[in-house]
Amino acid sequence: MRVFHSDIEQDYHPGSSFFCGRFTSYPDVPGRTRSILSALEGREGLRFHKPPPLEPHLLESVHDPGYVAMLAEVCGSLKPGEECFPFHARPLPLLLRSPYPRVRMGYYALDGSTPLMRESYPAGISSAASALAGADALLEGEPWAYALARPPGHHAGAAGFAGYCLFNNAALAAQALLPRGKVAIVDVDYHHGNGSQEIFWERDDVFYASLHCRPEEAYPYVTGEAEERGAGVGRGHNLNLPLPGGTDWAAYRPQLEKALDAVQAFDPASIVLSLGFDTLASDPIGSFALRVEDYSAMAGLIAQLDRPTLLLQEGGYDVESLGDCIAAFLAGLPQPHPAGERAAHGSGASGNGASGNGASGNSGHRAPQNEGGRGEPVS
Ligand SMILES: [Zn+2]
Repeated sequence: MRVFHSDIEQDYHPGSSFFCGRFTSYPDVPGRTRSILSALEGREGLRFHKPPPLEPHLLESVHDPGYVAMLAEVCGSLKPGEECFPFHARPLPLLLRSPYPRVRMGYYALDGSTPLMRESYPAGISSAASALAGADALLEGEPWAYALARPPGHHAGAAGFAGYCLFNNAALAAQALLPRGKVAIVDVDYHHGNGSQEIFWERDDVFYASLHCRPEEAYPYVTGEAEERGAGVGRGHNLNLPLPGGTDWAAYRPQLEKALDAVQAFDPASIVLSLGFDTLASDPIGSFALRVEDYSAMAGLIAQLDRPTLLLQEGGYDVESLGDCIAAFLAGLPQPHPAGERAAHGSGASGNGASGNGASGNSGHRAPQNEGGRGEPVS
């Protein structure tokens, strides 16, 4: 399995978040990535790659050009290490006429929690690049790929940042995978992926299924209800399964099976798994009660779909346990024989008979085979 990540993503380190009227420490810390990498180092069958450079215009496959331009301009205007919170957080066109960056950025702020920094834009670009490189690995015939993306992405809308997310990595990956056929995003992060839902709300080529803590109890508070099913041709292609705080694996598993049954019925050619470990009982943000070993069972259920699948890191904030979580998840996947893996990679064959030809009208971000690859995890 190819693993994609970069130092830029790992080193990104905002210090504070604005939440419920006060500043709190920023939970998306570099130690999250280090914890996961330490668990993956030396694990058989993994190949580590730095994602190739991403052309920013590719972000516009799912994001508003004005939003992308704002991020580049505002982040570029800040001093290294400076945090900039939006002065407003309202989509009022009036804000765009302001000479002040922190007023203009408010037009694109879905909430006031997430600062922008000079380092935010390159980190977000690299995180998106990791996701897209993972999608390319599937297009090239890999049955699995893992994007250790940071910052996460599923709260970012087409034209808005929120919840530590700048670019919607899952949406970008799903869009890139469409040339091989329909895509399902399965979101098992503790929080509802409001951005992923919004981007594909009126689409019938991408199915979005999410298990998350119900909006009465958890961020983003305003989306994630079961009644939200999509609109237009997208009606019925959005499935929310909100669950109460305290949910353990015994209660989670049947809901996951329900989501996966719906995905099976949709019959996607590829799957993007928004993989958050903030469902762990010890997570400092979440309130679910999953145990480390439950992620092995989760992986086993997802593997039964038998589709090329991109594992895309979203949240999970118990730094000490994140490595154990990803190790448990990978242990629950089918263990490829090394020789078999090489054969699959060399032939371009995919696990489910999809073409795997990598043909894409949006292929400018594609990594040349093995370029940018590293034999060791970054740091
Ligand atoms: Zn989360």
